[in-house]
Amino acid sequence: MSRPPGDWGKGQGEPVPRHRRNPKRAYDTEGREIEPATIANARANGAIGLIAECECGHEARIPFAGLPDDAYVPDVALKLQCSACGARGNRITTWPDWTGARRGEA
Ligand SMILES: [Zn+2]
Repeated sequence: MSRPPGDWGKGQGEPVPRHRRNPKRAYDTEGREIEPATIANARANGAIGLIAECECGHEARIPFAGLPDDAYVPDVALKLQCSACGARGNRITTWPDWTGARRGEA
């Protein structure tokens, strides 16, 4: 965990105890929930779609087409079902697909 504090931005609201945290959310160093990126944010930052990975190791690419702009990226997983093992969203993780995006280049 060498990620510098502040890299994820600042959380909002009251600190949330560890056992009550939502596994689909990030929390800041004080335990406050950080609002995740939305589909619109990810697209504006150059992502070409989403990548979904199941706990079984199956990975799929999901195009933005058909996803609502205001949906949170990690919450898209909740609507998915793994085509390999049949697992549902709480065992699937989604994040932006930066393939080909010009990101991190100075
Ligand atoms: Zn699976």
